[in-house]
Amino acid sequence: MAKAKTVQDVRDELPKTTSPIRAVRLKCLDCTCGSAKEIEACPVVKCPLHPFRFGKNPYRKPQSEERRAAAAERMRKIQAQKKSEGQDG
Ligand code: SF4
Repeated sequence: MAKAKTVQDVRDELPKTTSPIRAVRLKCLDCTCGSAKEIEACPVVKCPLHPFRFGKNPYRKPQSEERRAAAAERMRKIQAQKKSEGQDG
């Protein structure tokens, strides 16, 4: 007889980089047996996860153009650094 999974066993199977908003999306996929269409059409508007079911926070203010440009510049620097480290070692 197979041993029952513990809570820790189940947690260990989850992706390690799950953000809270991504966790909501995964829960909605679980709730709808993996159907993105069912999530889109979810009629349970009283569910606390409903506004977040698309894996995005609808209450978050959009990024300003300056912040977006600064983030893009940071990413460029990180990628350039990774590339140079890859060439060195
Ligand atoms: S929002 Fe809809 S799909 Fe997501 S958990 Fe709630 S009831 Fe399920």
